[in-house]
Amino acid sequence: MECIFCQIVAGKVPGEILYQDEEVVVFHDINPQAPVHLLITPRKHIPSLAQLSEVESPLIGHMVDVANELAKREGISESGYRLVINCGEEGGQLVAHLHMHLLGGRQLRGGLG
Ligand code: AMP
Ligand code: ZN
Repeated sequence: MECIFCQIVAGKVPGEILYQDEEVVVFHDINPQAPVHLLITPRKHIPSLAQLSEVESPLIGHMVDVANELAKREGISESGYRLVINCGEEGGQLVAHLHMHLLGGRQLRGGLG
């Protein structure tokens, strides 16, 4: 089958799902870049931010709400964190299923690429 994140979202890959609701699923990044590195992933297979339609864009707000809540749960709300969405090849996107990275738990570098 298809997309790895679709498989995770469908529960076909045993993994630690930290949070889920009707729209999104949150799980640990397999190759964490920080002590907290979670992926906020829509259930719907949207290949990238570039394919997000205007009617779907409220989903991004919901993803931010979920990320903020997870940051609280993970104890990094006060210390700070970073939300990242990579889009397309030059944007550094490796998995072609829209997702938002929540990174924190250490001092992140200032560079953006
Ligand atoms: P991006 O470069 O924004 O597309 O990020 C893709 C992320 O997905 C990378 O940080 C990978 O480590 C992560 N990743 C790839 N496969 C898996 C998987 N099976 N489970 C969890 N995270 C994954
Ligand atoms: Zn998918």
